[in-house]
Amino acid sequence: MRDIYKWKIEGVSCQGIAERLNQNGILSPMEYKRFIGLRYNTSFKVNTTAVWQSVTVKRILTNAVYIGVLEQGKREKPNYKVRKHVYLPKEKWICKENAHDPIIDSSVYDTVQGLLKQDTRAVKSGASVFPLSGVIICGDCGGAMIRKTNTVKGVRYPYYICGKHRADKNFCSTHNISANECEKAVLTALRLHTSAVLDVEKALACAESIVYRQDGVRKLTARLEAKQDEIRRYNDFRLSLYESYREGVIQKEDFLSFKASYDIKITDAETAALQLKNDIEKMTAGETESHDWINKFRAYSESATLERKTVAELVDGVIVYEGGRLEVMFRLYNEFARLLTALKEGGAA
Ligand SMILES: [Zn+2]
Repeated sequence: MRDIYKWKIEGVSCQGIAERLNQNGILSPMEYKRFIGLRYNTSFKVNTTAVWQSVTVKRILTNAVYIGVLEQGKREKPNYKVRKHVYLPKEKWICKENAHDPIIDSSVYDTVQGLLKQDTRAVKSGASVFPLSGVIICGDCGGAMIRKTNTVKGVRYPYYICGKHRADKNFCSTHNISANECEKAVLTALRLHTSAVLDVEKALACAESIVYRQDGVRKLTARLEAKQDEIRRYNDFRLSLYESYREGVIQKEDFLSFKASYDIKITDAETAALQLKNDIEKMTAGETESHDWINKFRAYSESATLERKTVAELVDGVIVYEGGRLEVMFRLYNEFARLLTALKEGGAA
């Protein structure tokens, strides 16, 4: 997947990229999604042959889902793609033999992050009282969305509008979206993303127990046996050294100095062997690494309303497109991608 971006930057056309991918036998998005068990409402389904086409390549280059974006639409226009989201059915996470790199492009991701940081800085300290202040941006001009309120018959309706358009009506377009709807959608996206994260965590723990662990124990046992051989060898040397000394072949000083060096080697090897034994025991007992960052998602996905703190910790950006479509980018995506990689390696081992 990284190659697609690389080739594009090198100036290869989308058609050219599609041809290269087909030649190299790379899984197309449809097959990839089937592979990772990701169900995703997408027009990719139209192309049931699952072969790379230039239009598919172009979508990848422009679709932020490939750098860790969850999409969440709202029902504004009946003919619009109404809801788009990613979710990962638990039972589908382990079953893969064909290894395939996860789709990550951190440089693109970082670029977006940089833009978002600028935005956050642009927000005046007093203005950041609303949950999405500093992270909500216009999908077309990239400028900050600003919060305004309409009052109809005494009822206040807060909404977001493209700040640049508001300043100059000839620039961009309104991108008008209800603040409440928007916050609700972000919260929903957060719940979906959290359940995906938790599913991967669960699947990984499972994969580790059945495959990774067996493999790990096998490797550690081999190392332990090698260490034990080493210890035996040093003991033999030390014994023959003593015999040579007793038979008068070597002097006492030499004997003592050689013996001291073997003693050290044996002690070191015994320490290493003990450590390996402990590691094997731990792995057999099923202790797995805990991922603290997952608890952040776990904690916040329970909240009923979208808090500023939740956004600050977990949301990198909310992009608003004309027509009410939203893209939500979550923080800690690299950690999530690492989990996916670990899962892939565990499953493929
Ligand atoms: Zn705009």
